[in-house]
Amino acid sequence: MADVTAPALREFPVAPRLQPGSMAGSMPFVASGKVQEALGFPVEMPADWHDRAIAHLGEMLGKYRSLRVYLDACVHCGACTDKCHFYLGTADPKNMPVARQDLMRGVYRRHFTLAGKLFPKLVGARELTRELLDDWYRYFHQCTECRRCSVYCPYGIDTAEITMAGREVLDAVGYGAKYSNEIIGKVHRIGNNLGLPGPALANTLEGLEEDVKEETGVDVRFPLDEKGAEVLLVTPSADFFAEPHVDSLIGYAKVFHQAGIRWTLSSHASEAGNFGLFIGNYEQLRKIALRIREAALDLGVKRIVVGECGHAWRVAYSYWNTLAGIGAGADDPFARQLQSQLDPNYRQPMHICELTWDLVQRGALTLDPEANDHRVVTFHDSCNVARASRMGDTPGGQFEIPRALVRAVANKYVEMRPGTTHEATFCCGGGGGLLTDELIDLRVKGALPRMEALREVVDRDGVNFMATICAICKAQFTKVLPYYGFDRALVGGVHQLVSTAIRLGAKQ
Ligand code: SF4
Ligand code: SF4
Repeated sequence: MADVTAPALREFPVAPRLQPGSMAGSMPFVASGKVQEALGFPVEMPADWHDRAIAHLGEMLGKYRSLRVYLDACVHCGACTDKCHFYLGTADPKNMPVARQDLMRGVYRRHFTLAGKLFPKLVGARELTRELLDDWYRYFHQCTECRRCSVYCPYGIDTAEITMAGREVLDAVGYGAKYSNEIIGKVHRIGNNLGLPGPALANTLEGLEEDVKEETGVDVRFPLDEKGAEVLLVTPSADFFAEPHVDSLIGYAKVFHQAGIRWTLSSHASEAGNFGLFIGNYEQLRKIALRIREAALDLGVKRIVVGECGHAWRVAYSYWNTLAGIGAGADDPFARQLQSQLDPNYRQPMHICELTWDLVQRGALTLDPEANDHRVVTFHDSCNVARASRMGDTPGGQFEIPRALVRAVANKYVEMRPGTTHEATFCCGGGGGLLTDELIDLRVKGALPRMEALREVVDRDGVNFMATICAICKAQFTKVLPYYGFDRALVGGVHQLVSTAIRLGAKQ
């Protein structure tokens, strides 16, 4: 463990006493010229960075009306101030959502409003100095783009959009973050965030087939690049071998096996994650999404299913249609070809929880929930699923379907307290492109509100398994749980529970 001290867990969590500047030293490593170049961004900050930054901000204000509305609408009512896990965990006032927005709002007023040009001091207008740009870099990388603050804002102002716009401007002036940009480069070059090439992936999947055979005696397949399969499964690359992620992949494979669905993974699109979202860059977002369309067309699949990954599901659910023609919306020849190829019942992307829950409801799986009786389970809603997407056909499906599935495969289930779940869920503290070691102090502190809610159900109900459907949540919790005195094995996937409960072989 890194030499980082977690804040004390409190019985009655309240907003902390301000500690100005407490996180001024926290920032991700800056991307090298090589990393920047691979994405088409400037390799270093040019002499005219200021003018370029203002011009780029102006471009975005023209493209995204929402950004201008968010920058104009805030009345500084303060309702959002104590809603951010990073403010609650660090006490740095610049981590209050409104203060984070104001880093950009002042510059917007100075350059894009009449009042700001004429009476800058009166309206809080500020010049974009190098010092302020550094604060953008620091504090737009202390936001996981989780959108919790926007739930409480009477005007629905979405700080995550402002963070994304800030990062987009930073990239445009050669001031990108190494972690996210390096990962995006790997997806373009190799196909996944981990940089796992096709042959290594094939070996890994063969190894999993052997493991499952040894454990269950059943030939459960993990197919790769199989043309003519019905389902293309796109899943976070962490599922291929990291613990506990791989246990969910085994769960998906058992579900497909037992339901008799012919499925495949793709070496070309071996990543569901899309870090283009985190850096707010439409071109990168689209380029990554297009790999999935290319794979789907090449393999001739009839439907596309997304594994347990929060932000990937947001991108699939909310943007794939216009980005890549998966779902209604796009109108280029490839999009039309894909639409005619997909099963008319499954033209939209489907979440793996939807697929499994549908099979459970139709009685297509034999489940033995007693197999999970050694577990007392709670469910952590992941931000991008909870607040930026839906699931199934009814409002709230993104909350109810995973819970229904957990209850179908485990007998002992409890909720964490209201105000920390569903749309009010607290971020794990590692999303939005912050899951990097140099930010471990921030990540540990940002996990505080979730850890406090978890501590209650561990002490009161004996919870020993927190299920989640996000690869970043799994990776983040695995890392930070020990800082709060919990066992890292306390976190796992919903399909890890499915994997334990599902009975393989002929249906009884
Ligand atoms: S989006 Fe999330 S991380 Fe960002 S300011 Fe709002 S609550 Fe904090
Ligand atoms: S809740 Fe909304 S209007 Fe109020 S301070 Fe926060 S962002 Fe501004």
